[in-house]
Amino acid sequence: MSGCLFCRIINGEIASRSVFSDDNIVAFKDLNPQAPTHILIVPRKHISSLSEAGDGDAQVLGELQLAGRTIAADLKLEGFRLVLNNGKIAGQTVDHIHYHLLAGRRLMWPPG
Ligand code: AMP
Ligand code: ZN
Repeated sequence: MSGCLFCRIINGEIASRSVFSDDNIVAFKDLNPQAPTHILIVPRKHISSLSEAGDGDAQVLGELQLAGRTIAADLKLEGFRLVLNNGKIAGQTVDHIHYHLLAGRRLMWPPG
């Protein structure tokens, strides 16, 4: 997906501050952090949203969450939140599936 912002970050066309990378997943710091720790966890495969994910994507979807666990452990986070915005009305602005990993402050519930 040549026009996709996160595909361009994944292939190195656009710079990012990487915190994790393996065969299927990359994670980098959010440009506009909403918490002291705000990391985006993204599959290398372009999937536009959770609604567009197929049954065959189950493995990589699990790997996204486990990457969140690994990053949280590496950063010794006391607690954290993984957020996935699906669709414009839910706040999705980049059409390449991703989790937000948020931590470092008290996180309110319900979210806004
Ligand atoms: P969402 O609104 O859930 O689709 O999340 C997209 C996130 O991407 C937002 O939190 C943005 O701040 C973040 N973002 C946009 N452009 C960049 C970029 N070049 N590098 C890192 N994060 C970005
Ligand atoms: Zn993409």
